[in-house]
Parts: sequence; C-alpha cells; structure tokens
Amino acid sequence: MKSHAQVVVIGGGVVGASVLYHLTKKGWRDVVLIERLELTSGSTWHAAGGMHTVNGDPNVAKLQQYTINLYKEIEEVSGQSVGLHMTEGLMLAATPARWEWLKSIRSKGRYLGMQVELVSLDEAEKLLPLIDKRQFTGAMYDPIQGHVDPYGTTHAFAGSAKKGGAEVHVHTRVMDTKPRTDGTWDVITDKGNIHAEHVINCGGLWAREVGRMVGLELPVLAMEHQYLITEDMPEVAEINKTTGKMVLHAVDFDGEIYMRQERGGMLLGTYEKHGIPWSAKDTPWDFGPTLLPDDMERMAENLEVGFRHFPAFQKAGIKKIINGPFTFAPDGNPLVGPIRGLKNYWVACGVMAGFSQAGGVGLALSNWMADGDPGMDVWAMDIARFGKWATRSYTNVKVRENYGRRFRVRFPNEELPAARPLRTTPMYHKWLELGAVMGDSWSLEAPLWFAPAGVKDEFSFHRSTDFPHVKAECKAVRNGVGIAETSTFAKYEVTGVNAETWLSHLLACKIPKEGRMTLAPMLNHAGKLIGDLSLAKAGPERFYIFGSGAGEEYHMRWFERHLPTDGTVKIVALGQGLTGLTIAGPKSRDVLAKVTDEDVSAKAFRFMDFRPNMEIGMVPAMIGRVSFTGDLGFEMWVKPEHQVALFTALWNAGQEFGIRPFGGRALLSLAREKSFGTWAREFRPIYGPFEADLGRFVDLSKNDFIGRTGAAKEKEEGPKRTRVSFVVDASDADAIGDEAVWKDGKVVGWITSGGYCHHADKSLAIGYVPTEVLGAGAEKAKWEIEILGEMRKAQLQLEPLFDPKAGRMRG
Ligand SMILES: Cc1cc2nc3c(=O)[nH]c(=O)nc-3n(C[C@H](O)[C@H](O)[C@H](O)COP(=O)(O)OP(=O)(O)OC[C@H]3O[C@@H](n4cnc5c(N)ncnc54)[C@H](O)[C@@H]3O)c2cc1C
Repeated sequence: MKSHAQVVVIGGGVVGASVLYHLTKKGWRDVVLIERLELTSGSTWHAAGGMHTVNGDPNVAKLQQYTINLYKEIEEVSGQSVGLHMTEGLMLAATPARWEWLKSIRSKGRYLGMQVELVSLDEAEKLLPLIDKRQFTGAMYDPIQGHVDPYGTTHAFAGSAKKGGAEVHVHTRVMDTKPRTDGTWDVITDKGNIHAEHVINCGGLWAREVGRMVGLELPVLAMEHQYLITEDMPEVAEINKTTGKMVLHAVDFDGEIYMRQERGGMLLGTYEKHGIPWSAKDTPWDFGPTLLPDDMERMAENLEVGFRHFPAFQKAGIKKIINGPFTFAPDGNPLVGPIRGLKNYWVACGVMAGFSQAGGVGLALSNWMADGDPGMDVWAMDIARFGKWATRSYTNVKVRENYGRRFRVRFPNEELPAARPLRTTPMYHKWLELGAVMGDSWSLEAPLWFAPAGVKDEFSFHRSTDFPHVKAECKAVRNGVGIAETSTFAKYEVTGVNAETWLSHLLACKIPKEGRMTLAPMLNHAGKLIGDLSLAKAGPERFYIFGSGAGEEYHMRWFERHLPTDGTVKIVALGQGLTGLTIAGPKSRDVLAKVTDEDVSAKAFRFMDFRPNMEIGMVPAMIGRVSFTGDLGFEMWVKPEHQVALFTALWNAGQEFGIRPFGGRALLSLAREKSFGTWAREFRPIYGPFEADLGRFVDLSKNDFIGRTGAAKEKEEGPKRTRVSFVVDASDADAIGDEAVWKDGKVVGWITSGGYCHHADKSLAIGYVPTEVLGAGAEKAKWEIEILGEMRKAQLQLEPLFDPKAGRMRG
C-alpha cells in the first residue's frame, strides 16, 4: 500500500466504488479505496438492486437518471457486467390521493425529460397481468426501471476506477483518521498508514463509526429491511412466454410494496409501518456479509394487501426471505458533501437507494472536490441540511417515521409528527394559546396558521380547512396590523476590523451605510446563487446577516471556509440566542410608536433603516424597517429572555388597532403577491442572480467579489432563464411547485412555488422559463400550468399583484 495519496475513500460498497470512479473521471489518479473485507461487504451485497428515476426532489431525480444512464459506460470501461435488466416499471395507486400524486409526478416528469406516462387500469393489467385491477385507481408507466446485480455493479465501478489509475485495497480496515495542521490527513489502517490530502467517508453501515473517529455524530441509522423470493410461479412463466419479456417492476404505494421478477419467481419487498432499527448505537465491526433472522410476522400486514392486490402471490411458495440492514438519513435522502469545520473531510453516506443514486452521488462529490462546487443543485442531499440538533435519538425517531412512510403520500400541507417538539422559542406556549397550528421548520416549532377551536388541518393536495383562516390573517395584515414569529430565520453577527472588506468580497451587493440594510445575494465561484441574504450595518465593525433558517449550517460552512485566518473577522451564527418578532401592515407604525419614545415616523425611520439599539416596551432590541410581507413592517430581534415581554408590549399596544397573529402560511401568501422568492425554491444554485430577478442587488462596479465574473457574464449576455409569475385559473388546487409550464402546447419551464394570494384573491405560481420565450407577444400566448393532471390556463403577471410601485412598503 502506498504511503501517500491525494484521496482515501473509506468503504467499498456501491457508493465508495462510484465515488472512486468519478474521481478518476475528473482526472484524479492518485486515489485509493480501502475496504475492511471484500467489496460489497456492507448493505450492498444483499440489495435487491432495483432502480428508478422517480424522486420527490427534481434535482435528485435528475441524478437518478444520470446513475441509470451510467451503467452501460461502466460495463464498457471495466469489462464487468452489471447484470442490467431494464424491465420497465409500473407505479400503482390504490387511493385517489395517490392517484393525484402520480399525476403531479407526471407533470414534473415532463420538464425533467422523464418519459413517465399515466395509463388506464386496462393498460396496467396488460402491462402487468399479476395485478387485480379492481384494487387500484390508477397507474403510471415508467420505461426507465429495472434492476442490476449489486456485486457486478460495485465491481464495475471499482474496475473502471482502477482502469483510471485508482488503487483498491481489500481486507484493510481504517482504524482512525487524524487531521494534520495543514488540513491533510493521516489514515491509520491495520495494514499501515496513508498520508492523504482528502478523506471521504463512504462507510455505509459504519459511516457513524468512521465519523466518530473525527468527533462527528452523523445523522444516519440502519433499518432492518426484508424481501422475499417466491418459488417459480406459473403466472410469471406465462407472462415471459406471451410478452417475450421479464415481468415489469412494480411499486404498490398503498401496500408499501415493491416487486420484480427473480428467476422464475418474484421478489417482493415491504416497508412495514413499524420498522426495526438495527444497531441503534454502534455497528459491530465483526458484522460481515451475513443476513439477519427473518420475521414474516412483521411483513404480515403488507403481505395481506399484497395478496389482495396481486392474487397470484396467494398460491406462490416462499423460497427465501432476506433480511438485511441499510442506512437512512432522517428524511431518507443521502448525506453528501464537505463537513463544516473539517478541512478536506467529505462524506457520502445514508444512501438508501444506492442503485438509483450512487452514480449521481459520485458525480456531485467529485465535482465538489475538484471544482469547489457540486456543479448542480444538491441541496436535497447536502449533509449541511442537518444541524447539531439532529442528534442520534432524533435520527432514530425520524428514520423510523420515514421508513414507515417510505411510499406514503406526503401532502403539501402535511406536517410530520415524529420528534416534536424538539426546538421551541419562548413564544411557543403563547402561540398555542392563541390557537397556533405549529409547523416543523428544521426542527424549530413555528406557527403555520391560527385555527379556531375544533378546526384542524386536513391534509390534501387541494385547498383545505385552513383556507378561510389564512385568508383572514392576510386581510388582517393588509388592512391593519399582524404580528408573527421570525425566529426561524438564521441570524449571523460579523465583527472585526476587516469585517466590511470581507463582506464586500463575500457578497455581491453594495455594503450598506451604518444604520441601513440591503438585500445581499451571495454567489458561488461560478456566479450562481447560494444565498438570498439581508445585510445590516450596525456599526463600523459590526454587521448582521439574516437568511433562511434551513440554510444556517450550509451558509456557515461557506462563511467559515472563506474567513481570513488572521483573526480580523469573526462570524457567529446566533441561532436561538437571538429571537424575533415582526409586525406588519399599514397600522404597524402606529403600534410601534406606542411602545417607544423614539421617532419612528416615515421620515425618521425609512424603509431599510436598521437600528441596533432601540428600546421597545422595556426590551433592548435591534429593529429593521423591512418586512417579507411586502407591506409597511418592522422586524425586531431580541434575546430569548425578552421575546415574551416584547410580544406583550406589542400585543397590548396593538389592541386598539385590531392586531392579530399570523403564521407562516399567511406570510408566504403575502410575500407571493409581491412575487418575492424564497431560498431553496426560487433561489437555488442552479440560477444566476439576473435569472432570479435579484440582479439589481448585484454591484458590479465595486471591488472584486466571489462570483463576479459569472455574474458580469450573465448580465452582459442576458439571463438564459427568467423568473416569472403567473396568475393561474385554478380550481380548488393551486400550484405548489414542480409543475410543468406549457406555452402554446409545449413544455417550456417549471414552477418553483405557488399558492393562493388571499389579499389579491388570485392563485399565483412562480417559476422559470427560458428568456427567449418571453419575447413580443408573450403575454398573449397560451400559457398553461399542469396541476394534478389538469391543464390550467395561466396569465403572465409581469408586476407584483400587490403594491407594484412599492408605495406601501416604502411609505
Ligand atoms: C435487503 C435490502 C434490499 C435493498 N434493495 C435495494 C434496491 O432494490 N435498490 C437500491 O437502490 N438499494 C437497495 N438497498 C439499499 C442499498 O443496499 C444501499 O443503498 C447501498 O448498499 C449503500 O451502499 P454504501 O456503499 O453506502 O454502503 P455499504 O454497502 O454498507 O458499504 C460500506 C462499506 O464500507 C466498508 N467499511 C466501513 N467502515 C470501514 C472501515 N473503517 N475501513 C474499511 N472499510 C470500511 C464496509 O465493509 C462496507 O463494505 C437494499 C438494501 C437491503 C439491505
């Protein structure tokens, strides 16, 4: 074994092997994979090998497409067969809600270039004669589904990597990883040590243990998973004979079942409601390629549905039951990327669908390492979506929940109940007293809406029980004044003699004067959006940044990576050490005036002014004249011990103005009628600032800043895509995001978010289309948005529905 390498990949499952191959594709030859036993000795060897392109997140779906398209390539490069059977597949719905979900996937599939098609139940039966069609409400056909051989696939990745110069060492265990002060690593193995520039944790079932070597507690947990293989079935032989093909893959969502042909019989796997974690705390190092004891009883409930939905199984003998563990992150998506605070340490673990995802994971990670950026939008699998709050016990509860609902519909208004409440603000009980229905905002509880006694959220793709109440909250804000929680925002304090110089290099905006705020796009080196932040200058050497709460770990990783090492700038994520409230609406200034002796008139306290030291009621607060409602409004920031006192002061003063609480749903509705975008929806690293309509906040005339070249080019050449809004002729279902946008009968774009604008009384959708389709006559063109399988007429909305001249907001 060599003593030095550019990269050491720990773990030779399908993920490690793919990462290794992709590094060689980037031209990195001095790369080594270390595997404690033989390749595939973790969860990989006993996988069912099924793969498909469908994923709730369109960016992950694209990476799944990429993975499947890669199989031919690795066979050719390595000379090793992956055992590919592209059988095609059917996704089956047995309830109206699941049928609606399939329709929404079809709409998404159109702009992703997926060839999924909805088929009638007669067609479904023709394609898959094993079904009892009376049990189903609809089906979707997917030509890109099938299975591979896990052993062959892993060896094909590893073999291809070796052809590219990589080394693979089996029967070698990594015992420790030790950082050197220069950011390189000593990888200690039982066969000698390697000094490596980079380390990648692809430890699969042992990813936690490998992480613990550097003090990391990764949010992954293995679950026992079972599938059975039947004896040969005459029905299978008949299908093979009459079609000349293998039986199609099938996913029966309502039975939580997947199945495919295995030799002359069928393989059927289940996701039980009450799955069992495996090795909840520590994974034993002596666990080899062995199976766990099977437990038919656990599968019984799912099999009961399976026997009804697929009657041929009732007579089939069971040849074998496989029970093996594999890992999940709390939301079921992979954990990929660099780790905040650890130089040159990377992870690619928690991959629960290795044969659909390993290729995409390898591609993203190798780009990230070689180019400093994954080259695509990987937010849905970025390790940084979880903060320190994702403890081992939290992970345990969420992974079990996720496993039990693996194939279940998640409605757009549905909040998942497990592991709650985990983080709360001091206002939590007060909001509940006022009738708040709480939402889980990255583990922090925040009001979604306020319900009268006895009214509950009913989960649906359609407008639901909250509709009239959210409307009332919106009206209260627009006609008077509302009060809401803002602690879900991320807040950062930046201090130091070089704070301003550093921020001006980090952010694309002009740095505001002291006492002022600005919107602050943050770009990556390619000039794409990695943050839609607000920046306030509190003093000569003190700034505050406000951003999306979900992005806190992601942004801190970026900030810290670019921080000067000479100590002249300090940045701290304030987290829940700073809590917030906002008041908004035309009477919000009157309320504020009653609780302070400072001049808050329009002249003295202008739009985008920021006061870092102001007493409100009895409370020391920072306050900005800004509001995401797009109305006159104020955001106030106080220490947590003051949040309730601040609320009481504003609430009491607001009574004569009819103050009402409003929740996150009303806030989004109000922001939408101003066509404001949000992080991870309209603002993502696949968009440039000019495409995203944030170009006016990019100051190309100032000093050089990260992403300047890309932004300047985008401006000069004109954005290729443009963010636009549409008023939709919706019925009782609004766009929610990921729907296809049609122009004159052709799919041209996609929706990023949508919903009802209660004050404007219109359904609005925001999305992206190619700029070239927005030429003359675009407003008159036939625009349509496909919602739940129906083409809904849409009208381009070129200015905000509310206050287009911003008189209210700035007044
Ligand atoms: C019953 C079952 C059915 C499945 N069916 C499917 C399916 O149909 N389709 C699908 O896509 N996925 C399926 N999966 C999931 C799939 O197996 C996983 O997504 C995939 O195996 C994850 O691969 P990995 O490389 O991340 O992890 P692993 O396969 O666990 O690989 C990790 C490797 O790292 C090695 N290692 C760990 N620590 C060290 C160390 N310190 N030093 C050296 N080596 C180390 C281990 O020995 C192991 O080989 C199934 C899983 C099971 C259990």
